[in-house]
Amino acid sequence: MEQDTTPTEKSSSRKLHEDACSVFPGGVSHNVRATEPYPIYIERTDGPFVYDVDGNLYVDFWNNHAASLLGHTPDPVVDAVQSQAADGLHYGAMNEPTLELGMKILEHVPTAERVRFCASGTEATMYAVRLARAYTGNDRILKVEGGWHGANSDLAIGVHPPFDQPTTHGLPPNIDESCLTFEENNHEAVIDLVEANRGEIAGLIIDPRKGGTEPTAAFLELLSDLAEDEGFLLIFDEVVTGFRVSPGSYQERVGITPDLTTLGKVIGGGMPVGALCGRADIFEPAKPNAPPETRVLAGGGTFSANPMTAVAGLATIEVLESEPVYEHTERLAERLRDGLDSMFEKEGVTGEALGFSSLIHPAFNAAGPIESLTDAKTMVDHQAAEEFCERLYEHGYYTSPGSMWNVSFAHTDEHIDGVLEASRDVIRELKDDGHL
Ligand code: PMP
Repeated sequence: MEQDTTPTEKSSSRKLHEDACSVFPGGVSHNVRATEPYPIYIERTDGPFVYDVDGNLYVDFWNNHAASLLGHTPDPVVDAVQSQAADGLHYGAMNEPTLELGMKILEHVPTAERVRFCASGTEATMYAVRLARAYTGNDRILKVEGGWHGANSDLAIGVHPPFDQPTTHGLPPNIDESCLTFEENNHEAVIDLVEANRGEIAGLIIDPRKGGTEPTAAFLELLSDLAEDEGFLLIFDEVVTGFRVSPGSYQERVGITPDLTTLGKVIGGGMPVGALCGRADIFEPAKPNAPPETRVLAGGGTFSANPMTAVAGLATIEVLESEPVYEHTERLAERLRDGLDSMFEKEGVTGEALGFSSLIHPAFNAAGPIESLTDAKTMVDHQAAEEFCERLYEHGYYTSPGSMWNVSFAHTDEHIDGVLEASRDVIRELKDDGHL
């Protein structure tokens, strides 16, 4: 069933955006939120829904940049946050909820012998690179072409083609010599890159889901073997997949234990968070009393170890441990991916719903099979995907334009039926308008 409230009137969002353009560059503080024709201003959320300032209701498949696996404002999380707020918003000091959340990470994530909390996934990847450099004494970091590890300068190479180029201006010099990219699932490419940089590599970082493609098991085995044989660190960036695919995260699913893992999003239960975890020996130099000649700054920040985040994360993990969250979200996401695939076929559209677990990436007009993140970045029609998502807003469905959708525990079969029906209407519109 489609939403019965079709958002037609969005004049308040438009007006706020006009004002915002003289406050924020381009009217936003995060460029992906600059949706066309103007961002929808959200006023309130509830379970699977977001409500905008014009009183429109949307079923949300963006879910707070995939941080809200339980959906918006789940009762146990809201209760925990309210109760913590009464005791204090942040202490800037050690506190028990943060210790408990750290213990949960140690309990579940195979790589985690030690944890450091920070306020964002970007900080976590920054510290991961720094620890890898300190541990190995080497400078170079290898990353997957197209990989996004936050706004971290050390890894701001090749998020978009051309993959050997910096993603942004304003980086320190020669960053393109210390951060080198390889194609996901291309064995020869990574072997050649490792050989060409032998003895200079500090670490290799991979996010196993970007673009909706997955590294193959054989490729991950190869990365793990290369790291071990060559003496560099294997880093899984699980800011998205951490606790999303299971409490043991992606590494448990594939049976490979990296040296370091970055976490974020889900572990904060919708509140700001980042974390870095891994082998205890790698964290030795991060101790406050580490000798100055080896000390590594891997932590800090006014808002690290925030008790509000910790109680939200703990309440979320408790639900993940006790309710069929993974079963439910994965079943619905599979229904959505399958439903989109068969609808694309029926409508004669070259389209594919990529993704796994509760993640969905609609891709259009691919020039061939999409088998790696490189393919997902170079062979598909990103404009059509953006247009598809933004037109769904008019049908009462909210998603990240041209990027990852995700299903939350608050979604039901009805929401999947509804978004499939709306998607079919939008696909027909896009065909009529020559986008597909
Ligand atoms: N790593 C990955 C894989 C991400 O997807 C993101 C954010 N989407 C980050 C790191 C950065 O996290 P944050 O936005 O919390 O800084």
